[in-house]
Amino acid sequence: MKRDIITDPMLLSRKSVPAMQEDIQTAQDLLDTVIAHADHCVGMAANMIGVCKRIMAAQIGGKYQILINPEITDHSAQKYTAEEGCLSLKGVRTTERYAVITVSYYDEKFRKKMRTFRGFEAQIIQHEMDHFEGILI
Ligand SMILES: [Zn+2]
Repeated sequence: MKRDIITDPMLLSRKSVPAMQEDIQTAQDLLDTVIAHADHCVGMAANMIGVCKRIMAAQIGGKYQILINPEITDHSAQKYTAEEGCLSLKGVRTTERYAVITVSYYDEKFRKKMRTFRGFEAQIIQHEMDHFEGILI
């Protein structure tokens, strides 16, 4: 079910807790919501729909994929400066991102995965993981 987007910085600055198997419905709601904003949104963290669990939807390989409880297990030494926008914020801000990250996570069926992401996909994941920490760009 599509949910409203949270824009209150107080709510968005709360840290998210690990998700469990019973949070799968939140993953579906997140997908429904991000798809409703597909023309201007490449990723979304669950706290943006009011659920402080570590679940994100990110555009990977041309479609939205669910990453649950992602952890960066390795990253490139190199960082670069990126300009990012966020559906929960107005305007664009500058931040630093790793060019390459290796992430362990659970997929939408709660299967454990490990994958390396580069460039824009890596950037989306790092942006959404910041949301889990209550960090806004
Ligand atoms: Zn954001």
